[in-house]
Amino acid sequence: MFTNRRPRISIAHLPTPLEPLPRLTALLRGPQLWVKRDDQTGLATGGNKTRKLEFLVAEALAQGADTLITCGAAQSNHARQTAAAAARFGLACTLVLRGHPPAQAQGNLLLDGLLGAEIVWAEDAPITERMEEVAESLRAQGHRPYVVPYGGSNPVGVCGYVAAMEELLAQAAREGLSFDHIVLASSSGGTQAGLMVAARVLGYSGRILGISVDLPADPLRRRMAELATATADFLGLPLSFAPGDFAVEDSYLGGGYGVIGEREREAIRLLARTEGLLLDPVYTGRAFGGLIDLVRRGAFSSQERVLFWHTGGVAGLFARPTLE
Ligand SMILES: *Cc1c(COP(=O)(O)O)cnc(C)c1O
Repeated sequence: MFTNRRPRISIAHLPTPLEPLPRLTALLRGPQLWVKRDDQTGLATGGNKTRKLEFLVAEALAQGADTLITCGAAQSNHARQTAAAAARFGLACTLVLRGHPPAQAQGNLLLDGLLGAEIVWAEDAPITERMEEVAESLRAQGHRPYVVPYGGSNPVGVCGYVAAMEELLAQAAREGLSFDHIVLASSSGGTQAGLMVAARVLGYSGRILGISVDLPADPLRRRMAELATATADFLGLPLSFAPGDFAVEDSYLGGGYGVIGEREREAIRLLARTEGLLLDPVYTGRAFGGLIDLVRRGAFSSQERVLFWHTGGVAGLFARPTLE
């Protein structure tokens, strides 16, 4: 409802399913676990960036852009979804990826190529700076590039998750459900910031817990407070957010971004074997691993209902020959 006046294209398969995890719930003997299937948003295997791109690509088209540019890690899900969205609307796409080209293009990187994206390796330069240079050189050649920010996380992209929270609450109400906690993987913070903006406006009283996959809690909370305040402002809502409004758990960073440890491996195997549900190694494997640990530590009562917001990323599973 708040996002209705914003330009938006329709590419996501919405509403995404809301499903119980009965076998895992029984196995862990903890709270009732549910999952919101944003791994099923569509767009070349789906994920949370599809919702952000509905608003970002609409802005790009309104500005007459001919190219989408974005940046990320070599196995960026966001880059792959941006490449797919570009193809879908007949736009060119340039992806600026961190580091050097690997010997073999697998997982998301394989898909980036199939989707027709041009890849620029940032090598030792910071990706956002390199992306601005690439945009500038395209402009100099007479193109009209639209820069999609890192993670799709600016007020335009965050609208996708303001709308997503409205979707969830309407869906839960129809099914007579309510959730005491929502747990998700948080990285650039746009997903959690969007959920929080809508939660505040709609009076959702549960807790939204971001499991950081990347940053320590303090900088992530500060970033999300800024992003949520800017998004509210963009939508004409008189709200402001402080870092302390955001629940973040940073105990599961392990060896750092993209480094798979025993916690991620256990979560990926457990969900696959008990529920037939795939998690990814970088984001949802880490976040669900954290959720399992919290359940085991008794952080939730068995009467509570906990929703894991599955943000996608499964293409990243195919970037490696084994989980070891
Ligand atoms: C980008 C991404 C996230 C993190 O979302 P943010 O909005 O950047 O916090 C989580 N999971 C997956 C699979 C992602 O690709």
